[in-house]
Amino acid sequence: MPELIAGKVVVLTDLVRRVLAPNPNIMTGPGTNTYLIGRDDIAVLDPGPDDSEAHLDAVARAGGGRIRWILVTHTHSDHSPGAAGLKERTGAEVLGYDERDGFAPDRTIGDGHVVADDVQRFRLRAVHTPGHASNHLCYLLDRERILFSGDHIMSGSTVVIAPPDGDMATYLKSLAIVAGLDAATIFPGHGDVIDDAKGKIEEYTTHRLAREAEVAAHLAASPAPLSVEQLVAAIYVGVIPELHPIAQFSAWAHLRKLTADGRARPATGDIDSLDATWVGVRPGHVE
Ligand SMILES: [Zn+2]
Repeated sequence: MPELIAGKVVVLTDLVRRVLAPNPNIMTGPGTNTYLIGRDDIAVLDPGPDDSEAHLDAVARAGGGRIRWILVTHTHSDHSPGAAGLKERTGAEVLGYDERDGFAPDRTIGDGHVVADDVQRFRLRAVHTPGHASNHLCYLLDRERILFSGDHIMSGSTVVIAPPDGDMATYLKSLAIVAGLDAATIFPGHGDVIDDAKGKIEEYTTHRLAREAEVAAHLAASPAPLSVEQLVAAIYVGVIPELHPIAQFSAWAHLRKLTADGRARPATGDIDSLDATWVGVRPGHVE
């Protein structure tokens, strides 16, 4: 596997190169992957954060004056802010799902939008995949069957679903959508290439449904209402404690989905509060 070293241009395929941004942390793993797609005309996917001139310089240099489009998967701070600085350097057109979080695209694009170079050396199709973020797009390089998954799927860990913009029910639907794309390989927003796309998507789906079942089982077994914090302490036992505050968001997202499904409800507070406590609802039980 090619190394993940910030600033270094790594050739992944005939059409795809990767430059790692220098923003490693507990959420981004090694950092954000910026991809350059194409040869004569180039699309940059996820320019990354805007706090590193060196990163944007490296991406622009790798583009060699041929960057025509700047695409983003979503508008979280580790993916899209570099768009403005890269546009300054290249004059490329900025494309994304919507204007948000300080990100201002020249053109908004939605599900099914295709970016292709003039000689059709590549065709990149946007796939709307809400869940991690409501404005999340994955991109499929269709002939090569490569899925650029952004934060929908990443290498090395599962992703955080943080309500209210993050939504577990739509996330699971979006996993089903990418499962139907028949991608062979996943190039994620964080971490290295995932060679078994089908297996990874199945693993993600199974993991989410298992977590949901655990949350439901703990609620059903508890004589008293449980807080999100208590549920995380009980369920996320294999996860390092530093990640528990972040895991609370995903547990909360599961509780909101279980509530929508009629299998849980808040005992105190409401579904929009991370501080609510929760009880299970037995199927078919009417109060
Ligand atoms: Zn994100």
